[in-house]
Amino acid sequence: MVDEQLATRDITDHRVLSAMATVPRHRFVPAPARADAYEDRPLPIGSGQTISQPYIVAFTLQALDLRPGATVLDVGTGSGYQAAVLAEMGATVTSVERVPSLASGARKRLAELGYSVDVVEGDGSMGWPTGAPYDAIVVAASGPSVPDDLLAQLRVGGRLVMPVGGRHHGQELVRTTRTPEEAGQEVREPLLPVSFVPLLGEAGWSR
Ligand code: SAH
Repeated sequence: MVDEQLATRDITDHRVLSAMATVPRHRFVPAPARADAYEDRPLPIGSGQTISQPYIVAFTLQALDLRPGATVLDVGTGSGYQAAVLAEMGATVTSVERVPSLASGARKRLAELGYSVDVVEGDGSMGWPTGAPYDAIVVAASGPSVPDDLLAQLRVGGRLVMPVGGRHHGQELVRTTRTPEEAGQEVREPLLPVSFVPLLGEAGWSR
């Protein structure tokens, strides 16, 4: 998966590549889809949700430009795969999921695999203030805009990567870097057209 689908494209961050070569993706996919776990496509994980395709996970994590030991907020735990890759990269991870059964499944799976990730249950569209400030925030569900509360929980210089756009189409992965107040507070860069499940909640879409 890493050699054929990622390293031949524009994924050059060796920490992302080696973490994705290490994390057993098949353990995050339900049994019927397991044979396809290393294909470059999203797969169903239950509750109408999906585990993102490997290329998108790699692209997103590369855009976060993480240093070892970074503190990261992962919004939309889903299967826990992206949280596991972040932990494998040496990040301290808080991961928030709104669907209780997905949160408990991911918590159990991550613990079995030896990943120490704090999986919490709730609406992550407003972030998770308890662990703030974060060096990076990554959102795996698409919202109408970048929530102010998420930006407020970033350290100055920190990066937030999330898909923004229509509820079901016309989405773009956007990186927002928090700058000092005198420099206007933030820099936004559209990175890639994408298709994600909706971010449901207070600062996302209504249910
Ligand atoms: N990163 C996941 C992919 C998850 S898909 C993985 O590696 O498997 C997006 C997830 O975001 C879904 O599980 C969905 O339930 C969750 N989600 C949607 N809105 C949310 C919100 N407001 N807070 C937390 N999680 C949310």
